[in-house]
Amino acid sequence: MKKSFRHLASTLIFGTLLSTSLVPAMAAEQVNIYSFRQPYLMQPILEAFTKETGIKTNVVADGTGILERLKREGLNSPADIVLTVDIGNLSELVKANVAQPVKTETLEQNIPAQYRDPNGIWYGLTVRARNIFVATDRVKPDEIKSYEDLADPKWKGRICTRSGKHPYNVALVASMIAHHGEKEAEQWLRGLKANLAQKPQGADRAQLKALKEGVCDVAIMNSYYYGRMLTEDNPEELAIAKAATMIFPNQEDRGAHVNLSGMALTKSAPNKENAIKLMEYLSKPAAQQLYAQQNSEYPVNPAVEPSGVVASWGDFKADSLPLAEVAKHREAAVRLLDKVDYDG
Ligand code: FE
Repeated sequence: MKKSFRHLASTLIFGTLLSTSLVPAMAAEQVNIYSFRQPYLMQPILEAFTKETGIKTNVVADGTGILERLKREGLNSPADIVLTVDIGNLSELVKANVAQPVKTETLEQNIPAQYRDPNGIWYGLTVRARNIFVATDRVKPDEIKSYEDLADPKWKGRICTRSGKHPYNVALVASMIAHHGEKEAEQWLRGLKANLAQKPQGADRAQLKALKEGVCDVAIMNSYYYGRMLTEDNPEELAIAKAATMIFPNQEDRGAHVNLSGMALTKSAPNKENAIKLMEYLSKPAAQQLYAQQNSEYPVNPAVEPSGVVASWGDFKADSLPLAEVAKHREAAVRLLDKVDYDG
């Protein structure tokens, strides 16, 4: 059965189709992408891919509805590839059984084992650290060195975070469980909650804003937001970023908790061969550099150096525990966050 990509246009949320014309299903050389990631971050890379291979790309970008859509469409889905922004999305794809394994030499060479699913169901594309930030005028950077330190009573009433249930924090708590076990992780989480300056609220950037406003002295935020705030030419955001110091946690032991943007091949993939070509393309240096640079992230391919503001931060040690292992503790992390009523 040929699948038409045409109907996708009707249900876009914030997305757009990047191809200039909607290619009928008869046209062989195309690949259909469902993306959690914002289209502008991918457009130049996809254009370069088309130029090199002659394969057209069709993108549906949707920050929230993609998983439901894939489940609904099942094996009739026109999607070939899913691009995601968090290990949570990647794990959900596995759980929902909408992705199929891929193993190629190129992918395995370009993407380190810790950043891909052992069965080839998903591959990471970029890495971000979940960092600690302090108010530069009130806290010395060496006063806090690890996620464990966040539970120290010294910080009582001084820490800001977003909701514990956000996938970024779920992954962080999952990594604490992976390293310390549930019991110790619970103690830590209770300690952190007791140190909060206010109920968890807002997104990542809002935590840094709260630092600037003096609501708290310590915050948690993904590294790329800091990079974007420093480079996006928004004076207000720049001032917020400049009032903070970024700390890569746990550099003296296991390394900072990192998360991934990534990709997976759908089970339905009507253009499987082209999709695998695109996956391989995205793992290669040219695409890696651009993809990472556009969101101030780290390329997953170790042969590619980070660029711009990210390079200026110098090297950091990332937790080497495979993300697939961390992801196994996501459900336990959500239970723990409920148990300690983190957001309450
Ligand atoms: Fe984000």
